[in-house]
Amino acid sequence: MQDELIMGCHLSSSKGYEAMARTAESIKANTFAFFTRNPRGGAAKAIDPEDIARFEIACEQIGMGPIVAHGSYTINPCSAIESVREFALQALTDDLARMEFTPGQLFNMHPGSHTGQGVEAGIEQIAETLNQVITPEQTTTVLLETMSGKGSEVGGTFEQLAAIRERIDHPEKVGVCLDTCHVWDAGYDIVNDLDGVLDEFDRVIGLEHLRALHINDSLNDCGAHKDRHARIGEGKIGADALVAVVDHPRLRGLPCILETPNELPGYAKEIAFFRKNYR
Ligand code: FE
Ligand code: FE
Ligand code: ZN
Repeated sequence: MQDELIMGCHLSSSKGYEAMARTAESIKANTFAFFTRNPRGGAAKAIDPEDIARFEIACEQIGMGPIVAHGSYTINPCSAIESVREFALQALTDDLARMEFTPGQLFNMHPGSHTGQGVEAGIEQIAETLNQVITPEQTTTVLLETMSGKGSEVGGTFEQLAAIRERIDHPEKVGVCLDTCHVWDAGYDIVNDLDGVLDEFDRVIGLEHLRALHINDSLNDCGAHKDRHARIGEGKIGADALVAVVDHPRLRGLPCILETPNELPGYAKEIAFFRKNYR
């Protein structure tokens, strides 16, 4: 039996969970991503249990794969500013509590930016915060996203992500989400040596901890440390190399999220393209 590609894109959460599932369905997506709160602000919308109940039914009908929530960009557990770290702690606690309304899903986050404190201090503070918010009872898996390494971002190398995971009290609750644009911009050549990059991921982190993919083309060269997403086939990675990622035997079955600069029709086109090229 041929397993189906699990792919979707980032969706607006403004109309709730059921609406996201139905929007996903309308573009032939069977996963999606959304911000758990305003990506640049602080407030989170209250959860409507009736919406969640209708969402669960919709997911059943659609055959939805794991969904990949995205934490707010304002969450920075390793800022040099104490109030920013405190907000990260409070927002992550609240986000993970709300994730439990949709049990067993994935919550992806940018590890953080150390803002001059140094990578080592950043790693310690990120792990410390995660250890305060992750409980052994939670059904959500927290994913650390691979970053491009721009500015003082932590997570631009597999080693840094592994170092965070090593410090986690309940490491079974923490996986990794690989963003193709970010790893490319960070200097991992997924165009010419995808197998080598995956071998390195496996050696440093362990491929079994890779739980989701962000599929984006990049406007920049490999190693540029920039992080500018492009539509599939309109960047320096190219459509062929991205098909090779999505269709890679070691990556099959992982939820793939498009974060390309598109509206829904553009996403529908990209999803159709990858489905056509999925063997
Ligand atoms: Fe992200
Ligand atoms: Fe991403
Ligand atoms: Zn990005």
